[in-house]
Amino acid sequence: AISVRGLEKRFGERTVLNGIDLDIHAGDVACIIGPSGSGKSTLLRSIAFLDPYDAGEVNVFGRMMGWRETPLGRERAGAKELADVRRPLGMVFQHFHLWPHMNVLDNVTLALRLVHRVPRAEAEETGHAALAKVGLAAFADRRPESLSGGQKQRVAIARALTVKPKVMLFDEPTSALDPELVGEVLSVMRALAAEGMTMLIVTHEMGFAAHAANRVVFMDGGRIVEEGSPQTLFAAPKSERLSQFLQTWR
Ligand code: ATP
Ligand code: MG
Repeated sequence: AISVRGLEKRFGERTVLNGIDLDIHAGDVACIIGPSGSGKSTLLRSIAFLDPYDAGEVNVFGRMMGWRETPLGRERAGAKELADVRRPLGMVFQHFHLWPHMNVLDNVTLALRLVHRVPRAEAEETGHAALAKVGLAAFADRRPESLSGGQKQRVAIARALTVKPKVMLFDEPTSALDPELVGEVLSVMRALAAEGMTMLIVTHEMGFAAHAANRVVFMDGGRIVEEGSPQTLFAAPKSERLSQFLQTWR
């Protein structure tokens, strides 16, 4: 579904992604782990081209993300082409970015109505279905401020689902939550995984990575240091860096 080859990203003089190769296949639930500053968020943002990458390439369902090859070299894809290549990707971040002045249903259906020009009645039907999926069918009329953090994050997941993504990208979806609210978000993610959703998840939830993922990718210093099944990676880390990193979580 996603193929990343030789991906490089610099911020000024700093190289933050230093040659990333990664394949995400349909049905994969891949967790990215690694220390702070290792480039996990930048990788996710580069895949979605929220941060334009500098070299290498990201292909999403066979189409290059963000750039277009021309006889004179690469040029930035136009907005329409970018939106098109990005369409199969749904994104959920640490912070929920809900509009405070709109109710939950309007938050969830906004993209459908404004970006995809879906008529209101149809958008709302899709929105209600997505809310039901995250266990918030009864919350359509509520304002975000009246929800808990876990409920807000589930709204953000529902919003991402309305456009029928083929791959969901999550960047630390539970890191901003009080500990007692983490479980409800992880169980929604587990349910998505069980339905066969392809997911790429940056997380510090090692229990989730160990049990819900079929692949774990360990990043450090802008590179993928190790990747494999959770069983091998957690039980028998090959690199000193991963052993050290895992020790901080035990
Ligand atoms: P964390 O676990 O703290 O979220 P991370 O693995 O997601 O860390 P990134 O956010 O990808 O790490 O950052 C990787 C490096 O890139 C860091 O050194 C960070 O300071 C730098 N960086 C990230 N975004 C920018 C930016 N917009 N401008 C300059 N430097 C940046
Ligand atoms: Mg990050």
